[in-house]
Amino acid sequence: MEQTDVVIVGAGLAGLSTAVFLGMHGVPATVLERHPGTSVQPKARGQAPVVMEGFAAAGLLEPILAASPPGDAGLTIKISRSMAGPVLHDFGGETAGLEAFSPVPGGMASQARAEQALAARAVELGATLRFRTGCEALSQDADGVTLTVRDLGSDAVERVRARYVVAADGHRGGLRELVGIGSHGRGTFGTSDSVRFAADLSAISGPDAVVLHYVQNPELPGGAGVLVSTDVPGEWVAAMDRDPARDEAGTVSLIRTMTGVADLQVRILGQDTWESAHRVADRLSEGRVLLVGDAAHVMPPTGGQGGNTAMLDGYHLGWRLAAVVRGEAGAALLDSHDAERRSYGEAVCDWQVANLVVRQRPDLADESIGEPMDGMALLFGYVCAGGAVVAERDVPGGEFEDPRDPSGRPGARVPHVALQGPAGPVSPRELIGPFWLVLTGADDGVIAARAAADELGVVVRAYRVGQDLHDPEAVWAARSGADPSGTMLVRPDGVVAWRGDDAGGLTKALRTVLHR
Ligand SMILES: Cc1cc2nc3c(=O)[nH]c(=O)nc-3n(C[C@H](O)[C@H](O)[C@H](O)COP(=O)(O)OP(=O)(O)OC[C@H]3O[C@@H](n4cnc5c(N)ncnc54)[C@H](O)[C@@H]3O)c2cc1C
Repeated sequence: MEQTDVVIVGAGLAGLSTAVFLGMHGVPATVLERHPGTSVQPKARGQAPVVMEGFAAAGLLEPILAASPPGDAGLTIKISRSMAGPVLHDFGGETAGLEAFSPVPGGMASQARAEQALAARAVELGATLRFRTGCEALSQDADGVTLTVRDLGSDAVERVRARYVVAADGHRGGLRELVGIGSHGRGTFGTSDSVRFAADLSAISGPDAVVLHYVQNPELPGGAGVLVSTDVPGEWVAAMDRDPARDEAGTVSLIRTMTGVADLQVRILGQDTWESAHRVADRLSEGRVLLVGDAAHVMPPTGGQGGNTAMLDGYHLGWRLAAVVRGEAGAALLDSHDAERRSYGEAVCDWQVANLVVRQRPDLADESIGEPMDGMALLFGYVCAGGAVVAERDVPGGEFEDPRDPSGRPGARVPHVALQGPAGPVSPRELIGPFWLVLTGADDGVIAARAAADELGVVVRAYRVGQDLHDPEAVWAARSGADPSGTMLVRPDGVVAWRGDDAGGLTKALRTVLHR
């Protein structure tokens, strides 16, 4: 029987991202995907800066930017009566100013192009991608997982043995149920038809490369629809409530209502059906099986974070699963996957449901849903104080903080600050990579970093703020909450693991986080 360290089921955004970040940490995974290749559907568009920071560390920044629309890939997001107007709300200003929180630009690649780039990089980093290959069953014992795998080309069935399995099989995959993990949530909001069509909308769509209109119009079924641009100029997707009886003339009529152009020439290119739902797994692991992406949390698309959360799951799981596989950490480190990613997934799902009410379905409004939380806090302010960190006692603060006033406490992102390195401006967020990062104000911190690396056999990279990195505007201490002579330990995924005045506590902190 073939043996491998990690098998990933599903080559979508979550599975491929996990394969990239495992590969970056020296663990080549095997990825099983029942489709003949990566996704051909436009679905998710865009990669948030938090995702792109991880991609920058993994050598994917340029490929994703190259896969994004050329030039200044401007973004239109509006709620409107139709594309031609009137506009009820313009989100333009709300997506500006992200450079205050990250040194890395967001990407605008479609899901199809992002998956191609991820797949290519995963292979470069050692992953094996097996398309037309379905996982049909799995069973676990104390030492590993046995998967029953079918080659969908030849119909041959084999058994594959893995130490760990990552279930990245999406919302319809079934591995979650197979390992006995339940789910909770608000259920299904509706089923939509996504219709791809060609039409000349250049007179009304504006100059931006990416255009998204949430259309609220009583003439549409359910009073709402979505119009979104694709990678191909002149080709669009219109999403509308599903109606199996609707013929092509009916579809064209609805597209004309959504665009506001009564005599628009429309050529229908294809159609998919998808379900808008809210569902979160009750826990993100069972034994040696770990859930990521839509397998763990399904949300309506309003807000565009489903794919981003899937890619982030891979980013935040990759380093810890690799550390366990490589023997650098105890298996208990994997418990932090659930502790950190489930509550984040719940928050993103709640946000997208609240957005659904504001942008498309005011009829669903109820007190339990509430207003969408601040999007900047959602993207940049998550604090996983209960996960793989040495939490500080008596430090106030909830699960999200305002990234305009970052705390630097364990569980938060190491903040973006404009420091100066030997080669020019550099942010701590650009120093993240497949190693532990130490930022310290004292020579003792460098000595402690070396001692921790030697004792625990892990790679630690240390920088002295004030010597190796200069802080011309003297903002590091204020924004990181670190004592000027103190020491901060940052995880390979850019999350603060520990900070202290006495660098002598570094090895103990790292030992605690790694369960050694
Ligand atoms: C219309 C629409 C618009 C969206 N827009 C956005 C957006 O703008 N931004 C955003 O961030 N998100 C968006 N999303 C959400 C986003 O598409 C999903 O969150 C994302 O695809 C989840 O990725 P995943 O890898 O978890 O799952 P998937 O993409 O579903 O991938 C799972 C893969 O696993 C494979 N698989 C399943 N079972 C097996 C098995 N047993 N064996 C082998 N392979 C298996 C499947 O074939 C599939 O390829 C949108 C979704 C929809 C429907």
